[in-house]
Amino acid sequence: MSLLEGRTAVVTGGARGIGYEIARLFVEEGAAVVLGDLDEAEAVAAAKTLPGTALGFRCDVTVEDEVQSLLEYCTEEFGSLDVLVNNAGITRDKTMRNMSSDDFRSVVDVHLYGAWLGTKHASAIMREQGRGSIVNISSISGKSGNVGQTNYSAAKAGMVGLTKAAAKEVAHLGIRVNAVQPGLIRTAMTEAMPQHAWAAKLGDIPMGRAGEPAEVASVVLFLASDLASYVTGAVIEITGGRNL
Ligand code: NDP
Repeated sequence: MSLLEGRTAVVTGGARGIGYEIARLFVEEGAAVVLGDLDEAEAVAAAKTLPGTALGFRCDVTVEDEVQSLLEYCTEEFGSLDVLVNNAGITRDKTMRNMSSDDFRSVVDVHLYGAWLGTKHASAIMREQGRGSIVNISSISGKSGNVGQTNYSAAKAGMVGLTKAAAKEVAHLGIRVNAVQPGLIRTAMTEAMPQHAWAAKLGDIPMGRAGEPAEVASVVLFLASDLASYVTGAVIEITGGRNL
């Protein structure tokens, strides 16, 4: 029996990177998935490459109407919304001396406000169904803080508070809300990093290597599925032992 047979899911920022790997694994496990992303053509193209039922939909997670439309698209097309993964992300890394208010606000907007919008509106649908699982993609940067990431670390730490508060609010409705904190994962976001910064980070990882998007996806699958039926408000680190 596949872990998400008959279930439906929305993955934001699902056109590439970690979100795409999550969507791919969900489809392999039997779910029908909607990939929400800024670029509609990319989302649709990515969905077509998945080995099962998947659709692409344009959504900017910082725009409330678009988040609602994305979630409604899933219920209209597939009949329910069982899983939401708040994954969309951006970075605007700079030391505070050089970081503008816009750099700060845009990162907090996408990660924290975007995840709040998703959690709020997905919960409204899931409460009617009497079940649902929401997984927020935080970061180990939200636990340990990184130089040049006062915006990103603040947003990712905020997602932990959001996860725990929401988990308590909606547990009695059959909705679980959890988060993961990946460390250094090999994606376009991290490949843009200067070589010396990459090497320095590797030195801090007890397992001695970066993680792969599929290694994040498998933990998200666990939280999304009934294997985690008694897990809510949890924050799981996926870091190869970094920043313990
Ligand atoms: P990518 O940059 O590869 O993918 C992020 C996706 O999110 C892109 O498709 C991007 O679209 C989309 N996106 C950006 N802004 C929005 C928005 N406003 N609305 C909808 N979609 C948007 O990133 P990763 O796969 O590396 O990261 C995925 C998540 O994992 C992020 O939340 C990130 O912070 C987190 N994470 C990543 C780690 C890593 O090492 N890679 C470590 C820890 C956490 P577009 O391409 O058009 O910009």
